[in-house]
Amino acid sequence: MHLTVIGTGYVGLVTAIGLADTGHEVTCVDLNRERMEQLRRGIAPITEQGIDEALEKNQSRLTFTTEYPVSDLYLVAVGTPERADGSCDLSAVEAAVRLIESISPGASVVLKSTVPPGTTERLSTEHPSLRFAMVPEFLREGTALADMRQPSRIVIGTRDALLAPRLEELLKTTDAPVVHVDPTTAELTKYAANSFLAVKISFINEIARLADQVGANVDDIAHGIGLDPRIGPAFLRAGAGYGGSCFPKDIKALTTLARTHDTHLHVIEAADRTNEAQLEYVLEKIHPERGMHVALLGLAFKPGTDDLRDAPALRLAERLQQLGVKVTGYDPAAKTVLDQKTTMAEAVAGADVAVIMTEWDDIKYVSPQLLQEHMQTPRLIDGRNCWQHLEAPGSVQYEGIGRPHHT
Ligand code: NAD
Repeated sequence: MHLTVIGTGYVGLVTAIGLADTGHEVTCVDLNRERMEQLRRGIAPITEQGIDEALEKNQSRLTFTTEYPVSDLYLVAVGTPERADGSCDLSAVEAAVRLIESISPGASVVLKSTVPPGTTERLSTEHPSLRFAMVPEFLREGTALADMRQPSRIVIGTRDALLAPRLEELLKTTDAPVVHVDPTTAELTKYAANSFLAVKISFINEIARLADQVGANVDDIAHGIGLDPRIGPAFLRAGAGYGGSCFPKDIKALTTLARTHDTHLHVIEAADRTNEAQLEYVLEKIHPERGMHVALLGLAFKPGTDDLRDAPALRLAERLQQLGVKVTGYDPAAKTVLDQKTTMAEAVAGADVAVIMTEWDDIKYVSPQLLQEHMQTPRLIDGRNCWQHLEAPGSVQYEGIGRPHHT
């Protein structure tokens, strides 16, 4: 069976590596010529743990091209960004499917891209010569390869009785449970998963704000509630809120779609509003003033990735700059148009406040000495509640989110 992966971003490239890891030969297609040339030279276009080694190991099984080949099975992993009205832009998925139909009528198309409920059924009707399935992707950037090798579950959404077992055979390489559903259920499962995680983050962020007011410690609260197996400890770290290429746009797409069905997703919409307010909350903690200098430590939307899409640090930088604040930044992987320094020491030099926005290891462990040495009155706002020197903060004035302050 000839396999093709369309799109070589975070999902497409990792999916292709996963298939190659299990011995399949895979053609990877992307319209981005530069990206394909880089990949042909063995250079990964994204930062992801273990990706260089994985590319090298699978070099002989992976082909990179900008031309769609004839194939038996296509896995579509192109972007589905947010449109101005909040809905999901499906133009890349639709373009890919049109091209597949013209080249390989009769082929199977597996959508890995996150698409709104109803999309796969509509495409099946519009392209009757193709066989369709929707297999949502649950990998997390930063641990994408590990997630692909040890998935928590595989959801296969198809009405095609022949395709379902073929996909299970292709994709089930561990003892991960396989959930067989119809395509619309698979699509909504993906949005429900992301929305639930966003709700968890916004929930603990609200508790953190109250903890600040009443003098409680949100880390201890998260620990205390997370030990209840009905709640679980994950996604209960309070901070500056979520960002990234998925949560914000997927939540907007889902709530926008729901409204077209006269359904209001009150809890999910509230999570989104709380998330926006959380960034303003961090801004208030900074007490920004014209002429002030703020150093942002960490710019990527999470550690382990160079992805800056909808990164809270960039949104905060924009808000600060609007207020006439000078912003410098530091990130070990992501590259921005900000006044970005190559070391933390340079970024905080002369700053009035340093704000942790991404919990990279070097940032979590930044020493009080470094801050003392380069800042006149060292002030640290911890937008990820991750700083590891709370026991001995030196002269650093420290403020987390819903944590006791050190002044
Ligand atoms: P990405 O932007 O990193 O990669 C998309 C790639 O597709 C780009 O390289 C682009 O050049 C290419 N492309 C666009 N149109 C094309 C076309 N017609 N033919 C061939 N290539 C084309 O995107 P991503 O982060 O990998 O996300 C892809 C999809 O997976 C999205 O729907 C996203 O919501 C979903 N998803 C992403 C993640 C994640 O963590 N990034 C996790 C789960 C699901």
